[in-house]
Amino acid sequence: MQRLKVAQALKSTAVEIEVDVRGWIRTKRESKQGFAFLELNDGSSLANLQVVIEGTVTGFAEHNKHLTTGSAVRIIGVLKESPAAGQKVEVHATSIELYGTADAEKYPLQKKRHSFEFLREIAHLRPRTNTFGAIFRVRNALCNSIHNFFQSRGFVYVNSPIITTSDAEGAGAMFQVTTLDAAKPPMVDGHIDYSQDFFGKRASLTVSGQLEGEIFATSLGDCYTFGPTFRAENSNTTRHLAEFWMIEPEMPFYELTDNMDLAESFIRTIVAEVLATCPEDMAFFNERIDTTILAKLRNIIDNDFLRLSYTEAVEILMTCGEKFEYSVKWGTDLQSEHERYLTEKKFGKPIILFDYPREIKSFYMRVNEDGRTVRAMDVLVPGVGEIIGGSQREERLDVLISRMQECGLKPEDYWWYVDLRRYGSVPHSGFGLGLERVMLLLTGMTNIRDVIPFPRTPKNADF
Ligand code: ATP
Ligand code: MN
Repeated sequence: MQRLKVAQALKSTAVEIEVDVRGWIRTKRESKQGFAFLELNDGSSLANLQVVIEGTVTGFAEHNKHLTTGSAVRIIGVLKESPAAGQKVEVHATSIELYGTADAEKYPLQKKRHSFEFLREIAHLRPRTNTFGAIFRVRNALCNSIHNFFQSRGFVYVNSPIITTSDAEGAGAMFQVTTLDAAKPPMVDGHIDYSQDFFGKRASLTVSGQLEGEIFATSLGDCYTFGPTFRAENSNTTRHLAEFWMIEPEMPFYELTDNMDLAESFIRTIVAEVLATCPEDMAFFNERIDTTILAKLRNIIDNDFLRLSYTEAVEILMTCGEKFEYSVKWGTDLQSEHERYLTEKKFGKPIILFDYPREIKSFYMRVNEDGRTVRAMDVLVPGVGEIIGGSQREERLDVLISRMQECGLKPEDYWWYVDLRRYGSVPHSGFGLGLERVMLLLTGMTNIRDVIPFPRTPKNADF
Protein backbone atom coordinates (compact mmCIF):
# COMPACT_ATOMS: atom_id res chain seq x y z
CA MET A 1 0.00 0.00 0.00
CA GLN A 2 1.31 3.44 -0.92
CA ARG A 3 0.76 6.50 1.22
CA LEU A 4 0.20 9.39 -1.19
CA LYS A 5 -0.47 13.10 -1.01
CA VAL A 6 -3.40 14.22 -3.12
CA ALA A 7 -1.00 15.90 -5.57
CA GLN A 8 0.93 12.65 -5.98
CA ALA A 9 -2.23 10.58 -6.43
CA LEU A 10 -3.52 12.97 -9.11
CA LYS A 11 -0.26 12.75 -11.05
CA SER A 12 0.18 9.00 -10.62
CA THR A 13 0.60 7.07 -13.84
CA ALA A 14 0.22 3.75 -12.02
CA VAL A 15 -3.40 2.71 -11.51
CA GLU A 16 -5.01 -0.27 -9.82
CA ILE A 17 -2.64 0.20 -6.87
CA GLU A 18 -3.73 0.29 -3.25
CA VAL A 19 -3.30 3.74 -1.73
CA ASP A 20 -3.66 5.48 1.62
CA VAL A 21 -4.63 9.16 1.37
CA ARG A 22 -5.45 11.55 4.18
CA GLY A 23 -6.97 14.98 4.12
CA TRP A 24 -10.01 17.18 4.63
CA ILE A 25 -13.34 16.82 2.91
CA ARG A 26 -14.20 19.73 0.65
CA THR A 27 -17.60 18.38 -0.43
CA LYS A 28 -19.68 15.23 -0.34
CA ARG A 29 -22.33 14.14 -2.81
CA GLU A 30 -24.57 11.10 -2.34
CA SER A 31 -26.16 9.16 -5.19
CA LYS A 32 -29.52 7.41 -5.11
CA GLN A 33 -27.78 4.09 -5.66
CA GLY A 34 -26.17 4.37 -2.23
CA PHE A 35 -22.80 5.69 -3.44
CA ALA A 36 -21.06 8.69 -1.98
CA PHE A 37 -18.46 10.88 -3.66
CA LEU A 38 -15.97 12.87 -1.61
CA GLU A 39 -13.77 15.68 -2.88
CA LEU A 40 -10.65 15.31 -0.76
CA ASN A 41 -7.94 17.96 -0.36
CA ASP A 42 -4.78 17.92 1.76
CA GLY A 43 -3.29 21.24 0.64
CA SER A 44 -0.78 19.64 -1.72
CA SER A 45 -2.65 20.77 -4.82
CA LEU A 46 -5.41 23.03 -6.00
CA ALA A 47 -7.36 20.12 -7.47
CA ASN A 48 -9.22 17.72 -5.20
CA LEU A 49 -9.03 13.96 -5.35
CA GLN A 50 -12.36 12.28 -5.96
CA VAL A 51 -13.12 9.36 -3.66
CA VAL A 52 -15.89 6.94 -4.62
CA ILE A 53 -17.50 5.12 -1.71
CA GLU A 54 -19.90 2.22 -2.04
CA GLY A 55 -22.46 1.78 0.73
CA THR A 56 -20.76 -1.39 1.97
CA VAL A 57 -17.32 0.16 2.56
CA THR A 58 -15.88 -0.40 6.04
CA GLY A 59 -16.57 2.58 8.26
CA PHE A 60 -18.99 4.27 5.85
CA ALA A 61 -22.33 3.52 7.50
CA GLU A 62 -20.90 4.39 10.89
CA HIS A 63 -19.27 7.69 9.85
CA ASN A 64 -21.46 8.86 6.98
CA LYS A 65 -23.31 11.55 8.89
CA HIS A 66 -19.97 13.05 9.97
CA LEU A 67 -18.43 13.06 6.52
CA THR A 68 -19.11 16.76 6.06
CA THR A 69 -17.17 19.71 4.66
CA GLY A 70 -14.07 20.33 6.76
CA SER A 71 -13.88 16.96 8.49
CA ALA A 72 -10.61 15.00 8.36
CA VAL A 73 -10.43 11.44 7.05
CA ARG A 74 -8.12 8.64 6.09
CA ILE A 75 -9.11 6.70 2.99
CA ILE A 76 -7.67 3.38 1.98
CA GLY A 77 -8.66 2.31 -1.48
CA VAL A 78 -7.67 1.54 -5.05
CA LEU A 79 -6.47 4.23 -7.43
CA LYS A 80 -8.38 3.87 -10.72
CA GLU A 81 -8.70 5.67 -14.01
CA SER A 82 -11.68 7.96 -13.75
CA PRO A 83 -14.51 7.85 -16.27
CA ALA A 84 -15.54 11.38 -15.24
CA ALA A 85 -14.48 14.43 -17.24
CA GLY A 86 -11.82 16.74 -15.81
CA GLN A 87 -9.89 14.19 -13.77
CA LYS A 88 -7.58 11.36 -14.71
CA VAL A 89 -7.89 9.24 -11.57
CA GLU A 90 -10.12 8.63 -8.59
CA VAL A 91 -9.91 6.43 -5.52
CA HIS A 92 -12.39 3.63 -4.87
CA ALA A 93 -12.47 3.40 -1.10
CA THR A 94 -12.21 0.10 0.73
CA SER A 95 -12.18 1.65 4.19
CA ILE A 96 -12.74 5.03 5.85
CA GLU A 97 -11.35 6.24 9.11
CA LEU A 98 -12.60 9.50 10.61
CA TYR A 99 -10.15 11.77 12.44
CA GLY A 100 -11.85 15.04 13.41
CA THR A 101 -15.38 16.08 12.56
CA ALA A 102 -16.44 19.62 11.58
CA ASP A 103 -19.91 20.63 12.67
CA ALA A 104 -21.78 21.54 9.47
CA GLU A 105 -23.79 24.19 11.29
CA LYS A 106 -20.72 25.93 12.65
CA TYR A 107 -17.82 25.38 10.21
CA PRO A 108 -17.29 28.82 8.63
CA LEU A 109 -15.98 27.58 5.28
CA GLN A 110 -19.04 26.24 3.56
CA LYS A 111 -19.13 25.98 -0.21
CA LYS A 112 -20.14 29.58 -0.99
CA ARG A 113 -17.55 32.19 -1.91
CA HIS A 114 -16.41 34.44 0.92
CA SER A 115 -15.04 37.97 0.72
CA PHE A 116 -11.32 38.48 1.36
CA GLU A 117 -12.28 40.82 4.21
CA PHE A 118 -14.23 38.05 5.94
CA LEU A 119 -11.47 35.52 5.33
CA ARG A 120 -8.93 37.87 6.97
CA GLU A 121 -10.97 37.54 10.16
CA ILE A 122 -10.56 33.77 10.02
CA ALA A 123 -6.89 33.70 9.07
CA HIS A 124 -6.59 30.34 10.86
CA LEU A 125 -8.95 28.74 8.33
CA ARG A 126 -8.40 30.72 5.15
CA PRO A 127 -5.44 28.57 3.98
CA ARG A 128 -8.03 25.81 3.49
CA THR A 129 -9.67 27.74 0.66
CA ASN A 130 -8.67 27.40 -3.01
CA THR A 131 -7.42 30.96 -3.27
CA PHE A 132 -5.28 30.97 -0.14
CA GLY A 133 -3.98 27.46 -0.75
CA ALA A 134 -2.79 28.67 -4.16
CA ILE A 135 -1.30 31.87 -2.68
CA PHE A 136 0.76 30.06 -0.08
CA ARG A 137 1.97 27.35 -2.44
CA VAL A 138 3.10 30.11 -4.81
CA ARG A 139 4.76 31.97 -1.93
CA ASN A 140 6.67 28.81 -1.07
CA ALA A 141 7.77 28.31 -4.69
CA LEU A 142 8.80 31.95 -4.85
CA CYS A 143 11.02 31.70 -1.74
CA ASN A 144 12.63 28.58 -3.14
CA SER A 145 13.24 30.27 -6.46
CA ILE A 146 14.81 33.30 -4.76
CA HIS A 147 17.29 31.11 -2.87
CA ASN A 148 17.99 29.18 -6.10
CA PHE A 149 18.71 32.36 -8.01
CA PHE A 150 21.37 33.49 -5.57
CA GLN A 151 22.75 30.09 -4.62
CA SER A 152 23.28 29.16 -8.28
CA ARG A 153 25.30 32.37 -8.69
CA GLY A 154 27.51 31.73 -5.66
CA PHE A 155 25.91 34.29 -3.32
CA VAL A 156 26.25 33.60 0.41
CA TYR A 157 23.06 33.64 2.48
CA VAL A 158 23.63 35.81 5.56
CA ASN A 159 21.29 36.08 8.57
CA SER A 160 21.28 39.72 9.59
CA PRO A 161 20.06 40.51 13.12
CA ILE A 162 16.41 41.19 13.87
CA ILE A 163 17.12 43.26 16.97
CA THR A 164 19.34 46.21 16.23
CA THR A 165 20.66 49.38 17.83
CA SER A 166 21.26 51.18 14.52
CA ASP A 167 18.71 52.72 12.21
CA ALA A 168 19.49 51.70 8.63
CA GLU A 169 17.69 54.58 6.97
CA GLY A 170 18.18 57.25 9.57
CA ALA A 171 14.49 57.83 9.01
CA GLY A 172 12.72 56.58 12.15
CA ALA A 173 9.57 54.44 11.92
CA MET A 174 11.08 51.67 14.07
CA PHE A 175 9.46 49.43 16.66
CA GLN A 176 11.25 49.72 19.97
CA VAL A 177 12.38 46.61 21.83
CA THR A 178 12.57 47.11 25.57
CA THR A 179 12.20 45.34 28.89
CA LEU A 180 11.81 48.61 30.82
CA ASP A 181 8.53 49.14 32.67
CA ALA A 182 6.53 51.33 30.29
CA ALA A 183 4.58 52.80 33.22
CA LYS A 184 7.69 53.74 35.21
CA PRO A 185 10.89 53.80 33.14
CA PRO A 186 14.12 54.87 34.90
CA MET A 187 14.89 58.52 34.16
CA VAL A 188 18.02 60.70 34.01
CA ASP A 189 17.86 64.42 33.31
CA GLY A 190 14.27 64.13 32.13
CA HIS A 191 15.06 61.35 29.62
CA ILE A 192 14.53 57.59 29.79
CA ASP A 193 17.76 55.96 30.98
CA TYR A 194 18.34 53.28 28.36
CA SER A 195 21.61 52.25 30.00
CA GLN A 196 19.32 50.30 32.33
CA ASP A 197 17.46 48.67 29.43
CA PHE A 198 18.15 45.06 28.36
CA PHE A 199 20.79 45.93 25.78
CA GLY A 200 22.19 48.91 27.67
CA LYS A 201 20.98 51.22 24.92
CA ARG A 202 17.90 51.90 22.91
CA ALA A 203 17.10 48.91 20.66
CA SER A 204 14.57 48.27 17.89
CA LEU A 205 13.39 45.73 15.34
CA THR A 206 15.36 46.01 12.11
CA VAL A 207 14.07 48.06 9.15
CA SER A 208 16.75 46.63 6.84
CA GLY A 209 19.72 44.26 6.96
CA GLN A 210 21.67 46.31 4.45
CA LEU A 211 24.34 47.79 6.68
CA GLU A 212 25.21 44.35 8.04
CA GLY A 213 24.98 43.00 4.48
CA GLU A 214 27.70 45.44 3.43
CA ILE A 215 30.02 43.96 6.07
CA PHE A 216 29.62 40.52 4.57
CA ALA A 217 29.80 41.76 0.96
CA THR A 218 33.19 43.28 1.73
CA SER A 219 34.45 40.04 3.26
CA LEU A 220 32.66 36.99 1.82
CA GLY A 221 31.74 38.63 -1.47
CA ASP A 222 28.31 38.51 -3.11
CA CYS A 223 25.77 37.83 -0.41
CA TYR A 224 22.10 38.25 0.41
CA THR A 225 19.84 38.43 3.40
CA PHE A 226 16.27 37.13 3.43
CA GLY A 227 14.34 37.83 6.56
CA PRO A 228 11.56 39.66 8.35
CA THR A 229 11.67 43.44 8.39
CA PHE A 230 9.65 45.82 10.55
CA ARG A 231 8.40 49.31 9.89
CA ALA A 232 6.18 51.27 12.23
CA GLU A 233 4.94 53.59 9.50
CA ASN A 234 1.30 54.33 10.13
CA SER A 235 0.37 54.06 6.47
CA ASN A 236 -2.73 51.97 6.16
CA THR A 237 -2.33 51.18 2.46
CA THR A 238 -2.86 48.01 0.43
CA ARG A 239 0.91 47.82 -0.20
CA HIS A 240 2.41 48.31 3.29
CA LEU A 241 2.76 45.90 6.19
CA ALA A 242 4.32 46.55 9.59
CA GLU A 243 6.08 43.17 9.30
CA PHE A 244 7.20 42.04 5.86
CA TRP A 245 9.92 39.90 4.32
CA MET A 246 12.77 41.47 2.44
CA ILE A 247 15.54 40.05 0.27
CA GLU A 248 18.65 42.21 0.23
CA PRO A 249 21.56 41.22 -2.03
CA GLU A 250 24.79 43.18 -1.63
CA MET A 251 27.64 42.93 -4.12
CA PRO A 252 31.23 44.22 -3.97
CA PHE A 253 32.70 45.62 -7.21
CA TYR A 254 29.21 46.35 -8.57
CA GLU A 255 28.39 49.76 -10.00
CA LEU A 256 24.82 50.95 -10.38
CA THR A 257 24.38 49.49 -13.89
CA ASP A 258 25.58 46.07 -12.65
CA ASN A 259 23.05 46.41 -9.84
CA MET A 260 20.25 47.18 -12.35
CA ASP A 261 21.25 44.23 -14.53
CA LEU A 262 21.10 41.89 -11.54
CA ALA A 263 17.76 43.25 -10.30
CA GLU A 264 16.22 42.87 -13.75
CA SER A 265 17.44 39.36 -14.35
CA PHE A 266 16.43 38.45 -10.78
CA ILE A 267 12.80 39.50 -11.27
CA ARG A 268 12.50 37.97 -14.73
CA THR A 269 14.02 34.69 -13.53
CA ILE A 270 11.88 34.25 -10.42
CA VAL A 271 8.68 35.13 -12.27
CA ALA A 272 9.49 32.59 -15.00
CA GLU A 273 10.38 29.93 -12.45
CA VAL A 274 7.19 30.32 -10.42
CA LEU A 275 5.13 30.15 -13.63
CA ALA A 276 6.89 26.90 -14.47
CA THR A 277 6.62 25.31 -11.03
CA CYS A 278 3.02 26.32 -10.18
CA PRO A 279 1.11 26.09 -13.48
CA GLU A 280 -2.17 25.03 -11.86
CA ASP A 281 -2.18 27.71 -9.18
CA MET A 282 -1.17 30.37 -11.69
CA ALA A 283 -3.95 29.31 -14.08
CA PHE A 284 -6.34 29.63 -11.15
CA PHE A 285 -5.25 33.24 -10.49
CA ASN A 286 -5.70 34.01 -14.18
CA GLU A 287 -9.21 32.59 -14.11
CA ARG A 288 -10.46 33.88 -10.78
CA ILE A 289 -8.38 36.85 -9.61
CA ASP A 290 -7.07 38.77 -12.64
CA THR A 291 -7.72 37.51 -16.17
CA THR A 292 -4.70 39.39 -17.53
CA ILE A 293 -2.15 38.18 -15.00
CA LEU A 294 -0.47 35.51 -17.16
CA ALA A 295 -0.18 37.90 -20.10
CA LYS A 296 1.29 40.58 -17.81
CA LEU A 297 3.87 38.17 -16.40
CA ARG A 298 4.78 36.93 -19.89
CA ASN A 299 5.37 40.53 -20.87
CA ILE A 300 7.73 40.95 -17.90
CA ILE A 301 9.67 37.80 -18.75
CA ASP A 302 9.95 38.49 -22.48
CA ASN A 303 10.88 42.17 -22.59
CA ASP A 304 13.72 44.30 -21.31
CA PHE A 305 12.89 46.73 -18.53
CA LEU A 306 12.93 50.40 -19.42
CA ARG A 307 15.62 52.48 -17.72
CA LEU A 308 14.88 56.11 -17.09
CA SER A 309 16.60 58.75 -14.96
CA TYR A 310 14.57 60.47 -12.26
CA THR A 311 15.08 63.75 -14.15
CA GLU A 312 13.64 62.28 -17.38
CA ALA A 313 10.72 60.80 -15.40
CA VAL A 314 9.91 64.16 -13.82
CA GLU A 315 9.92 65.82 -17.25
CA ILE A 316 7.48 63.22 -18.56
CA LEU A 317 5.22 63.59 -15.53
CA MET A 318 5.22 67.39 -15.74
CA THR A 319 4.31 67.51 -19.42
CA CYS A 320 2.01 64.48 -19.81
CA GLY A 321 -1.22 66.35 -19.09
CA GLU A 322 -2.38 63.74 -16.57
CA LYS A 323 -4.19 65.03 -13.44
CA PHE A 324 -2.34 63.94 -10.28
CA GLU A 325 -3.37 64.46 -6.69
CA TYR A 326 0.20 65.51 -5.83
CA SER A 327 2.01 67.80 -8.25
CA VAL A 328 5.46 66.88 -9.47
CA LYS A 329 8.56 68.99 -9.52
CA TRP A 330 12.26 68.15 -9.59
CA GLY A 331 13.45 67.46 -6.06
CA THR A 332 10.29 65.89 -4.63
CA ASP A 333 9.79 62.20 -4.04
CA LEU A 334 7.54 60.49 -6.57
CA GLN A 335 4.19 59.34 -5.22
CA SER A 336 2.66 55.99 -5.92
CA GLU A 337 0.25 57.60 -8.45
CA HIS A 338 3.24 58.92 -10.44
CA GLU A 339 5.06 55.61 -10.39
CA ARG A 340 1.92 53.74 -11.45
CA TYR A 341 1.28 56.22 -14.28
CA LEU A 342 4.77 55.63 -15.68
CA THR A 343 4.87 51.85 -15.40
CA GLU A 344 1.21 51.13 -16.23
CA LYS A 345 -0.13 53.87 -18.48
CA LYS A 346 2.83 55.49 -20.15
CA PHE A 347 5.12 52.53 -20.80
CA GLY A 348 3.17 49.38 -19.87
CA LYS A 349 6.25 47.54 -18.61
CA PRO A 350 8.66 47.49 -15.68
CA ILE A 351 10.82 50.57 -15.33
CA ILE A 352 14.06 51.16 -13.46
CA LEU A 353 14.30 54.78 -12.32
CA PHE A 354 17.76 55.97 -11.30
CA ASP A 355 19.81 58.99 -10.17
CA TYR A 356 17.48 60.59 -7.64
CA PRO A 357 17.99 63.97 -5.91
CA ARG A 358 20.32 63.57 -2.93
CA GLU A 359 17.95 65.42 -0.57
CA ILE A 360 15.27 62.72 -0.76
CA LYS A 361 17.54 59.68 -0.45
CA SER A 362 19.53 57.96 2.30
CA PHE A 363 23.00 58.94 3.45
CA TYR A 364 24.70 55.79 2.15
CA MET A 365 23.90 56.31 -1.54
CA ARG A 366 26.83 57.31 -3.74
CA VAL A 367 26.87 60.97 -4.72
CA ASN A 368 27.10 61.56 -8.50
CA GLU A 369 29.58 63.87 -10.20
CA ASP A 370 26.82 66.48 -10.61
CA GLY A 371 26.65 66.79 -6.80
CA ARG A 372 22.86 67.01 -6.79
CA THR A 373 21.89 63.39 -7.47
CA VAL A 374 22.77 60.03 -5.95
CA ARG A 375 23.16 56.61 -7.55
CA ALA A 376 19.80 55.30 -6.37
CA MET A 377 17.47 53.02 -8.31
CA ASP A 378 13.86 51.95 -7.88
CA VAL A 379 12.24 49.16 -9.89
CA LEU A 380 8.57 49.84 -10.66
CA VAL A 381 6.20 47.21 -12.02
CA PRO A 382 2.66 47.44 -13.42
CA GLY A 383 -0.05 46.67 -10.87
CA VAL A 384 2.16 47.23 -7.85
CA GLY A 385 4.47 50.22 -8.27
CA GLU A 386 7.76 50.08 -6.36
CA ILE A 387 9.00 46.55 -5.84
CA ILE A 388 12.75 47.18 -5.38
CA GLY A 389 14.73 50.05 -3.90
CA GLY A 390 18.50 50.01 -4.19
CA SER A 391 21.67 51.97 -4.83
CA GLN A 392 25.37 52.03 -5.37
CA ARG A 393 26.81 52.73 -1.92
CA GLU A 394 29.08 55.64 -1.08
CA GLU A 395 32.56 54.11 -0.76
CA ARG A 396 34.53 57.35 -0.24
CA LEU A 397 35.19 57.97 3.44
CA ASP A 398 35.13 61.79 3.34
CA VAL A 399 31.97 61.96 1.22
CA LEU A 400 30.18 59.43 3.45
CA ILE A 401 31.01 61.35 6.60
CA SER A 402 29.85 64.66 5.18
CA ARG A 403 26.64 63.03 3.91
CA MET A 404 25.98 61.63 7.39
CA GLN A 405 26.41 65.05 8.93
CA GLU A 406 24.16 66.55 6.27
CA CYS A 407 21.49 63.98 7.25
CA GLY A 408 21.88 64.74 10.98
CA LEU A 409 23.58 61.43 11.83
CA LYS A 410 26.63 61.02 14.03
CA PRO A 411 29.38 59.06 12.25
CA GLU A 412 30.49 57.74 15.70
CA ASP A 413 27.18 55.90 16.00
CA TYR A 414 28.03 54.09 12.75
CA TRP A 415 31.73 53.63 13.46
CA TRP A 416 31.78 50.06 12.16
CA TYR A 417 29.99 51.03 8.95
CA VAL A 418 32.42 53.91 8.42
CA ASP A 419 35.35 51.52 9.08
CA LEU A 420 34.43 49.60 5.91
CA ARG A 421 35.49 52.77 4.01
CA ARG A 422 38.71 52.95 6.00
CA TYR A 423 39.97 49.47 5.29
CA GLY A 424 39.89 48.15 1.74
CA SER A 425 36.93 50.17 0.54
CA VAL A 426 35.51 49.18 -2.85
CA PRO A 427 32.66 50.31 -5.06
CA HIS A 428 29.65 48.20 -4.13
CA SER A 429 25.91 48.06 -4.60
CA GLY A 430 22.78 46.31 -3.46
CA PHE A 431 19.01 46.46 -3.31
CA GLY A 432 15.99 45.42 -1.28
CA LEU A 433 13.08 43.48 -2.73
CA GLY A 434 9.81 43.20 -0.80
CA LEU A 435 8.63 39.59 -0.92
CA GLU A 436 4.95 40.48 -0.52
CA ARG A 437 5.15 43.06 -3.33
CA VAL A 438 6.36 40.25 -5.63
CA MET A 439 3.46 38.15 -4.41
CA LEU A 440 1.04 40.91 -5.48
CA LEU A 441 2.75 41.00 -8.86
CA LEU A 442 2.53 37.22 -9.31
CA THR A 443 -1.01 36.56 -8.10
CA GLY A 444 -2.90 39.68 -9.15
CA MET A 445 -4.16 39.99 -5.57
CA THR A 446 -4.65 43.64 -4.70
CA ASN A 447 -4.26 43.74 -0.92
CA ILE A 448 -0.90 42.93 0.65
CA ARG A 449 -2.73 41.55 3.74
CA ASP A 450 -3.80 38.61 1.60
CA VAL A 451 -0.39 37.41 0.46
CA ILE A 452 1.29 36.94 3.88
CA PRO A 453 0.07 34.24 6.28
CA PHE A 454 -0.69 36.56 9.20
CA PRO A 455 -0.61 40.25 8.33
CA ARG A 456 0.53 42.85 10.86
CA THR A 457 -0.86 46.31 10.20
CA PRO A 458 -1.83 49.28 12.39
CA LYS A 459 -4.27 48.02 15.08
CA ASN A 460 -3.99 44.44 13.90
CA ALA A 461 -1.68 41.62 15.00
CA ASP A 462 -4.16 38.78 15.57
CA PHE A 463 -3.22 35.11 15.22
P1 ATP B 1 7.54 52.62 -0.30
O1 ATP B 1 7.99 53.88 -0.97
O2 ATP B 1 6.70 51.74 -1.18
O3 ATP B 1 6.94 52.85 1.05
P2 ATP B 1 10.23 52.35 0.58
O4 ATP B 1 10.90 53.21 -0.43
O5 ATP B 1 9.99 52.86 1.94
O6 ATP B 1 8.86 51.78 -0.03
P3 ATP B 1 12.59 50.67 0.73
O7 ATP B 1 13.13 51.22 1.99
O8 ATP B 1 13.21 51.06 -0.55
O9 ATP B 1 11.00 50.94 0.69
O10 ATP B 1 12.49 49.06 0.88
C1 ATP B 1 12.81 48.16 -0.16
C2 ATP B 1 11.60 47.38 -0.62
O11 ATP B 1 10.89 46.78 0.49
C3 ATP B 1 10.52 48.21 -1.29
O12 ATP B 1 10.84 48.43 -2.65
C4 ATP B 1 9.29 47.36 -1.13
O13 ATP B 1 9.28 46.30 -2.09
C5 ATP B 1 9.49 46.73 0.23
N1 ATP B 1 8.77 47.45 1.29
C6 ATP B 1 9.13 48.60 1.89
N2 ATP B 1 8.28 48.96 2.86
C7 ATP B 1 7.34 47.97 2.90
C8 ATP B 1 6.18 47.74 3.71
N3 ATP B 1 5.84 48.59 4.69
N4 ATP B 1 5.46 46.62 3.48
C9 ATP B 1 5.81 45.76 2.50
N5 ATP B 1 6.89 45.91 1.71
C10 ATP B 1 7.65 47.01 1.89
MN1 MN C 1 12.33 52.65 -1.84
